[in-house]
Amino acid sequence: MKAGAVTPGQKNSARLVEMEAPVISSGQALVRLLELGIDGTDIEINRGEYGEAPPDKDFIVLGHEAVGQVEEPGKTKLSKGDLVVPLVRRPDGCVNCRSGKPDMCIEGNYRECGIRGAHGFLREYLVEEPDFLVRVPKQLRNIAVLTEPTSIATKGIEQVIEFHSRSNNPIEVALVLGAGPLGLLSTALLRLHDFNTYTLDIVPRSNPKARLIEAIGATYLDGRESVVTALPQKLGNLDLIVEATGNSTVPFQAIDALGINGVLCLMGVSTGEKPLEICADCLNMQMVLGNKMVFGTVSSNRGHFERSIESLVRIEEKWSGWLSSLITRRLRLDEFAEGLRPSPDNIKTVIELV
Ligand code: BGC
Ligand code: ZN
Repeated sequence: MKAGAVTPGQKNSARLVEMEAPVISSGQALVRLLELGIDGTDIEINRGEYGEAPPDKDFIVLGHEAVGQVEEPGKTKLSKGDLVVPLVRRPDGCVNCRSGKPDMCIEGNYRECGIRGAHGFLREYLVEEPDFLVRVPKQLRNIAVLTEPTSIATKGIEQVIEFHSRSNNPIEVALVLGAGPLGLLSTALLRLHDFNTYTLDIVPRSNPKARLIEAIGATYLDGRESVVTALPQKLGNLDLIVEATGNSTVPFQAIDALGINGVLCLMGVSTGEKPLEICADCLNMQMVLGNKMVFGTVSSNRGHFERSIESLVRIEEKWSGWLSSLITRRLRLDEFAEGLRPSPDNIKTVIELV
C-alpha cells in the first residue's frame, strides 16, 4: 500500500513510501480511505518544525483530516459501506483521556495520528477500533473531509459562547481573525447562531474568501485597511473574538480590541520564536477592568466530531454548496508534496485517495 510520509525534523522530506497493507485483528474494522485534507500543521511538519515519528520509526505517515469507507466491519457494529471519519488524538491513561476527553489530556502522553507518535491517514487503508471512528451520513460524502477542522472550530466556538454566558449582556458582535479553513468554518458556526459576525483577512475584496464570508451573511473586513486595535471604534463592543491567523502577534492586538466582558479564543498554532514588545501594564489593566477572558483551545474529542457533523448538515441545508467551495484544490496521492507548498489563494487542499 502506498502512503505519504515525512521525516519529522527534516525540512521538505515529503515522499511516497510503500507499506504493508494492514490486517484487521479482533474488534477492528478495515477502512478504505477516500479523501485527506491538508492543513497548516501538515505544512509545518514538512518544514521540520513540528511532528514526531511513531516509536522506533524514522518517518511518519502524514494526514489527520480524513474520510473513509468501511470495507470490512469485522466484529464491530459498523456496516460495510459506512462512511467514517477517524479521530486524531489517542488517549494516554490520564483522568481526561480515560473519560473521553483526550483533547484535554493533562499528562501529555497522548498521540496524534499524522502529527505526533502515530501514523496518519494519508494512505490507502486503515485498521481501526470503532471507538476511534465516527459515522458520517452518506449525503456528506463530498465534504466529510472537513469534519476534523470543523470539530476544532466546534470546540472553540462552544467554549467561547459558554464562557461569555458568565455575564448577562447578549453577544452582539463576533469577530473572526483569519479566513483560512478554521476561520471560515468558525464564521459559519457563528452564523448558524445568527450572530452579527465580521471576519478579517488581508486579501482584496475581490478574493473568493471575501465572497464566501459574505455569502453566509457575515461581513468581510480587509485587515490592510484597518488595524485590529481600531476595530472597536467601527464595530462596537467586541463580545467574541476567534483568532485563527497563525500569526502570534495578532492575539495581543485582539486582547486590546476585545470588548467589556469579551472572550477571546486562540486557535492558531505558532512554531517559531518570534519576540514581541507589548505594553504589559496596558494589557493587564484592560483585561482586569474589562473582565476580559482569553483562552487557548487544541484538538477535539468524539463529541465535537459528532456535533460538527450535525453542523455540517445544517450549513449544507442553509447555504448549499458553500462547504464544497472551501475545497479549492484536489490532488492525487503521488502529488501530495505539491499540496504542502503554501499557495496564498488556495483555501483547502484535498488529496483524493481513490
Ligand atoms: C489538529 C489537531 C491537533 C493540533 C496540534 C491541528 O492541526 O487539527 O487535531 O491537536 O494540530 O497538534
Ligand atoms: Zn491524557
